[in-house]
Amino acid sequence: MDLFEYQAKELFVKHGVPSSEGRVTDTAEEARAIAVEIGKPVMIKAQVKTGGRGKAGGVKYAAGPDDALTHAQNILGLDIKGHIVKKLLVAEAKDIAEEYYISFLLDRANRTYLAMCSVEGGMEIEEVAATKPERLAKVPVDAVKGVDLAFARSIAEQGHLPADVLDAAAVTIQKLWEVFIAEDATLVEVNPLVRTPDNEILALDGKVTLDENAEFRHPDHAAFADKEATDPLELKAKENDLNYVKLDGSVGIIGNGAGLVMSTLDVVAYAGANHGGVKPANFLDIGGGASAEVMAAGLDVILGDAQVKSVFVNVFGGITACDAVANGIVKALEILGATATKPLVVRLDGNRVEEGRKILAEAAHPLVTLAQTMDEGADKAAELAAAR
Ligand code: GDP
Ligand code: MN
Repeated sequence: MDLFEYQAKELFVKHGVPSSEGRVTDTAEEARAIAVEIGKPVMIKAQVKTGGRGKAGGVKYAAGPDDALTHAQNILGLDIKGHIVKKLLVAEAKDIAEEYYISFLLDRANRTYLAMCSVEGGMEIEEVAATKPERLAKVPVDAVKGVDLAFARSIAEQGHLPADVLDAAAVTIQKLWEVFIAEDATLVEVNPLVRTPDNEILALDGKVTLDENAEFRHPDHAAFADKEATDPLELKAKENDLNYVKLDGSVGIIGNGAGLVMSTLDVVAYAGANHGGVKPANFLDIGGGASAEVMAAGLDVILGDAQVKSVFVNVFGGITACDAVANGIVKALEILGATATKPLVVRLDGNRVEEGRKILAEAAHPLVTLAQTMDEGADKAAELAAAR
C-alpha cells in the first residue's frame, strides 16, 4: 500500500524523524486557518500518490494566510498525472541550504535491502541515475545487521553528502531505517532530505510503501487505506475476506483456486470473442473450503456489479467436494433470494461430481444452467451476457 505524503510523515513523527510541522485538509478555507495557526510562511502541498507534484504546480510557497488560501484554491481539484487533488498538506516552509536524496527499499533482484543516497536531491532520482550515476550511492543493507549510526553515516558519505553534515544526516537516516523496519515498509524515500541554513537535517517529502503481507502485525495501518479511491465492490469483498479484483467485462467469475480462476478468465475472454467481445467482469477465488456462506458472499459481490450480465461458477471439487459446493450454491441462492437476478452457469468437476450435478439438477433453480465442461460453460456464460 502506497501512502500519501502526510501519512508517511505521521510515521516519520512516530519514529522521531525530523520533518516540518503541518496538517492535512480538504478545504482552502481550512488551509488558510492552518497557515494562521502555524504563523509562519507555509508550503501548500497537493496530496496525490504520484511524484513530480512540484513540477506540476502542486507544491507552492505561501508567505502568509491569504497566499495560502489562493494557492489552496488553485491546487484543490488539480489533475496531476491523472490524480485529482482532494487533500492538501499545509506545512511550515523551511529554509533550504541544500537538497539531498535518501531511500531504503527492497532489492528483489539481489535478495536484499538497498539504501540509495545522493547529494543531488530535489530532482527526480531517475534523472540523477541517468546523468550523474557516480553521485548516487547504492549500498546493500544486510537484513540482519540493519543500519546503525556508523553505517548510516557511511551511507551518507558514499552519497557524497558534505563532511560537516554527516553526523546530523546519520541520525536522520538511521531513524528512517527504523521506520522501514518497524513499519514493515518496502520503500521509504525522502526527496528532498534537506539541510537548513542552521545545519538541521529534515525530511521535507516522504514516500512510503507498506508491505500488505505484514498487515496482520499492524492493525493501525488499516487507517491509512484510501477508502474513497478503493472500488466499493473490492472494499465489500475485502470485508468478507474474499480474493476479488474488479475487471471491466460483463461475465462475473467465481472459482476455487487462483490458478483455476486465472484460466477461467482466459477461457471466458476466448469464448467471448465469439459473442461480440464479451469479457470477464472480475477475478474471484473463493478458495478451498467454499461454504454456502462464502459462495453467497461471493455471489453477492458479483451480482452487485452493475456491469455483470451473467455469472460463470467454475469449481473443481477437492477436499470440499462437488456436492458440498452444489449445496452451497443452492443455499446461496436461497440466502440472496430476490436479489439474485442474473443467469448463472455452473460447471462442476472433480470429487463427487455426479452427486453435485444431481443436487443442482433437482433444485432446478430457474437462473442456473449446468455445463459439462469449462469451455462449454464459458461459451454459455458469454452467450448469456451478450444477449442481455
Ligand atoms: P514532489 O515534487 O512531488 O517531489 O514534492 P516535494 O515535496 O519534494 O516538493 C518539491 C520541491 O518543493 C522540493 O524539492 C523543494 O525544492 C520545494 N519545497 C518543498 N518543501 C519546501 C519547504 O519547506 N521550503 C522550501 N523553501 N522549499 C520546499
Ligand atoms: Mn519530492
